[in-house]
Amino acid sequence: MSDWTFRAVKARNMALEAYCQNAACRRFSVFDLDRLIAALGPDYLVSDIPQLACEACGGPMEIKLALVPPGQDE
Ligand SMILES: [Zn+2]
Repeated sequence: MSDWTFRAVKARNMALEAYCQNAACRRFSVFDLDRLIAALGPDYLVSDIPQLACEACGGPMEIKLALVPPGQDE
């Protein structure tokens, strides 16, 4: 996941997800890709997203790309 742009993620119908790395928490969230594109632009690199802190525990979040099954991308 080195040089993915928001445009590339959206073009492949993929989702951006974040997982809490704290084993006792494991909070999971999905980014609103359209909102990210509106705010940062379609050429923003996924790898340039700053380190996020978990809303629940403050632990580091790991960002991952995930495939969205067809018909479930709303
Ligand atoms: Zn957490």
